[in-house]
Amino acid sequence: MIDLHTHSTMSDGTDPPERIPELAAAAQCAAVALTDHDTLIGLPAARQRADQLGIRLVPGCEVSCAYGTASAHVLVYFVDAEHGPLPDELVRLRRDRVARNRRLADRLVELGLPGDYEEVVAEASAEERVGRPHFGAVLTRHGAATSVADAFDRWLGDGRPAHVPKARVEPALVARLARASGGVAVLAHPLSLGLTGDALSAAVGELAEAGLVGIEAIYGRYSPPERAMLRDLARRHDLVATGGSDHHGATKPDLTVGTGRGDLKVPDEVLARLEDRRPAFA
Ligand code: AMP
Ligand code: ZN
Ligand code: FE
Ligand code: FE
Repeated sequence: MIDLHTHSTMSDGTDPPERIPELAAAAQCAAVALTDHDTLIGLPAARQRADQLGIRLVPGCEVSCAYGTASAHVLVYFVDAEHGPLPDELVRLRRDRVARNRRLADRLVELGLPGDYEEVVAEASAEERVGRPHFGAVLTRHGAATSVADAFDRWLGDGRPAHVPKARVEPALVARLARASGGVAVLAHPLSLGLTGDALSAAVGELAEAGLVGIEAIYGRYSPPERAMLRDLARRHDLVATGGSDHHGATKPDLTVGTGRGDLKVPDEVLARLEDRRPAFA
């Protein structure tokens, strides 16, 4: 058994990166991928602990992408160098996020809304990790919204008065940069595209054309019929059906490394199939 999707404190999880291999080993996993949002920074600590425990650490990350008018998360595997096409793009994306957040904070001041930037940064614990949900939490705390969802509806959502867009990165670009860095790209939780049937199949076909090598069919929060449907979709598009829990620790307490909600079991051979899709030079 393996787990190809986990988060640590280096993004929005609550377990430090070195804890992920410990949890994976305890769950009898042979391998675990650390896939923090838009960063590779937790990988050295996770690798060191994985080596001590005799479990394989698959280096990875989960890149937030724009796909048409929707968003898509793309998992990248086998990239852990400090520099290179994909790591350099991640640096650029994080810098853009910080610049966007500062503009968003200015916009809130212009609108006469509460919540200063320091408080938002404290909410996220680090400036690079700030996202709109942190602004939403602060707006809610100061009574400008009744909940984070309400804060999106009123202020932060696309097209709302305090919406400040951030850099768009497309799945096709991530696939190209991943390959150029010796790795592979996989569409995370494909049902998040909000598509079904032929529309979902067409989107997956397009992403396969764009160079993605797999879709995350065996996902922690998907039901057995959803997993079966996605596995079938992967087969039809000659993609690897990957899987993982999306463990975030206390942020998503229903998802555990390796076992997800208890019924997750990603076979070891998924990792071998992913490795087969790595670029030949890697
Ligand atoms: P950001 O990357 O800073 O633009 O924030 C995006 C995050 O906001 C996503 O991870 C979503 O989880 C969250 N989000 C987007 N739309 C909404 C919404 N309408 N209500 C609550 N959270 C949202
Ligand atoms: Zn997350
Ligand atoms: Fe995701
Ligand atoms: Fe995730």
